[in-house]
Amino acid sequence: MELQPPRGTADLLPPASDAMLGLYEAAHRSARLFGFRYVETPTFEHTELFARTSGETSDVVTKEMYTFEDKGGRSLTLRPEQTASIVRAYLENAHDLPNPFKAYHVSQQFRHGRPQAGRLREFRQFGVETIGVAAPGADVEVIALGDRFLRGRGLDDLELQVNSIGDAECRPAYREKLIAYLEPHAAELDEDCRTRLRTNPLRVFDCKVDGKTPLVLGAPMISDNLCQACAEHFAAVRNGLDADGVAFEHDPRLVRGLDYYTRTTFEFASGALSQAQSALGGGGRYDGLAEVLGGPATPGVGFALGLDRILLAMPATGARTPGGAGVACFVVALGAEATTVGTRLLKDLREAGIPAASAFEDRPLKAQLRMADRAGAAYVAIVGEREVEAGTAQLRRLASGEREGEQEQEEVPLDDVVNWFSRTDWAAER
Ligand code: AMP
Repeated sequence: MELQPPRGTADLLPPASDAMLGLYEAAHRSARLFGFRYVETPTFEHTELFARTSGETSDVVTKEMYTFEDKGGRSLTLRPEQTASIVRAYLENAHDLPNPFKAYHVSQQFRHGRPQAGRLREFRQFGVETIGVAAPGADVEVIALGDRFLRGRGLDDLELQVNSIGDAECRPAYREKLIAYLEPHAAELDEDCRTRLRTNPLRVFDCKVDGKTPLVLGAPMISDNLCQACAEHFAAVRNGLDADGVAFEHDPRLVRGLDYYTRTTFEFASGALSQAQSALGGGGRYDGLAEVLGGPATPGVGFALGLDRILLAMPATGARTPGGAGVACFVVALGAEATTVGTRLLKDLREAGIPAASAFEDRPLKAQLRMADRAGAAYVAIVGEREVEAGTAQLRRLASGEREGEQEQEEVPLDDVVNWFSRTDWAAER
């Protein structure tokens, strides 16, 4: 029996799982603070949903989808992203949902790529979508929320790039202009870049080999070729971000390849990660997506942030990993009588909402202290024979980094232990 999980997947265990839970909680808090509502869509969908929204030429469709046939012979796919699913769910239920529909998710995605640091086959995202408003204020709100969430995680060396890629009005003409500029030099481009030029010209700016050559850098840029409406929208987004105090840079080469993406695109990156995996997440407007799914024209804007990446970036920048490690109090009972007292104390603590645990066996003090430490407890409450007689418990801090023999210990009446914890900021002690 193989004990390792499948390639590209990972078990999330303490303390990494505590940190991930902290990110989940922060994601829920941030999204709700901005008025977004929690949604869940199925883990797998009809393959067609992603085939349509990823476009025939995109990497996700051609290489990375987890597609399988179910017992009924239907082609299903584990979701590689959430936007398509959320827009699908919105279109099916629009009459029952608020307008605009502001949705968020915290969920696993699946992509069959080549696993490496920061690139998994199953990974976690926090994403938001605002569906049903075309106004630039919606773009600003989404970007500001992403920025706030990331900065709140202590990711100070955060970079936010913003661009506009126009719409059906101005992009076709720009595309012709770009092709006309590059076509005469096609022979100088490597094969990947040449393919992009043919299938998806805007993506030449993402070419690994040639994306940064003077030839490509000198190409006309979409943000210089916007129609009036797109230019006004972009100006309003930038002004809104300035007014909100969100620091950003305009990257005129930040593009998306698919036609249903319109106007705003943005990306968050961390200087703490290597170039190849520095993207923490991004998003943009997708005013044409609903129609690709056969619905009425419906504007939308959103982002997806990679939580596994964010976790990687956090220790590197010295940020504190979030989430309480373990319980507030580990009850250490020594002897049969103390066990009865300890069991009652454990129950009282839990009833008062104070996380508590204990050993299941009567073991020596040292062994129980080790268990408490491993359980990530902030404090132990020691009850021995003497304490039973006195009606007290010894409260001892287990904070890490403490020097031997310098443990603080306080004798507290048993019926005051719960109050004592209520008065203490025990979570900050770890
Ligand atoms: P995307 O949906 O491709 O725009 O990705 C948004 C974010 O999800 C990226 O910036 C990464 O942080 C994260 N992400 C994407 N693919 C992976 C992956 N294979 N493994 C881990 N994180 C990923």
